[in-house]
Amino acid sequence: MSQPNILLLGPPGAGKGTQSSNIVEEYGVDHVTTGDALRSNKGMDISDLDVEYDTPGGFMDAGELVPDEVVNEIVKTALQEADGYVLDGYPRNLDQAKYLDEITELDVVALLEVPREELVERLTGRRICDECGTNYHVEFSPPEEAGVCDKCGGELIQRDDDTEETVRERLNVFDENTQPVIDHYDIRDELVRIDGEGAPDEVWEELHAAIEDEV
Ligand code: AMP
Repeated sequence: MSQPNILLLGPPGAGKGTQSSNIVEEYGVDHVTTGDALRSNKGMDISDLDVEYDTPGGFMDAGELVPDEVVNEIVKTALQEADGYVLDGYPRNLDQAKYLDEITELDVVALLEVPREELVERLTGRRICDECGTNYHVEFSPPEEAGVCDKCGGELIQRDDDTEETVRERLNVFDENTQPVIDHYDIRDELVRIDGEGAPDEVWEELHAAIEDEV
C-alpha cells in the first residue's frame, strides 16, 4: 500500500513531536505540524481577516488558537504535497476536524494521554535548540552543558508560549476545543488511546504496535 496517513492527537507536551519523529523515521512519511508552520509565519499579516490580532504570533503568545482560515490553508497545502504523513497539532477544534474529513482519508488516529500536572512540568522545563530544533528538558533530559545543544552547539531557548501562565491557558484551550475532536473520532471507533506517560521508547513501542495493527 502507499504510505500511511497518521493523525497524532494529544495535549501540548504529550510528546507528539518526539513520536512524530519516530513515525517519520519508521515509515518515511512527511511530518506536518501546524505549530512549526505557524512559528515560521508568526509575523504574517492577517489583518484583512479582521480578527483579534493582526498576526498568528498574537494568538500564539496568548496561548489562543490561530483562526481556522489560516490553519486550514496550511494543512491543505502540506497534505496535498505529502505521500503519507503524520499530522500533529491539527485538528484542534471540531470545525478543523470536519474540514480534515473533507480533504483527506486517515489510516490511523492515535491519542497520547498524559496527566495535566505532568504536562505542566514537561512544558515549563522544555528547552529547544534554536538551530536544529532538538528538544531538551532542564530536569528530565538536560544537555551536557547548560544552554547549549549537544548535537550542533546551538543555543537552547524557551519557547515564548512555554511559560507557566501560557502553558495553563494552552491546556485549558485544549480541554475546551480539542475534546470534541477526540469524541469525533472516538464515536466512529477510529481512536486508539496510547499511554503517553512513560519514557519515550516505551510510548513508541505501544504506538508502533498500534499503527502496525491498523495499516
Ligand atoms: P503547538 O506547537 O502545536 O503547541 O502550537 C503552538 C501554537 O500555535 C498554539 O498554541 C496555537 O496558538 C497555534 N496553533 C497550532 N496548531 C493550531 C491549530 N490547529 N489551530 C489553531 N492554532 C494552532
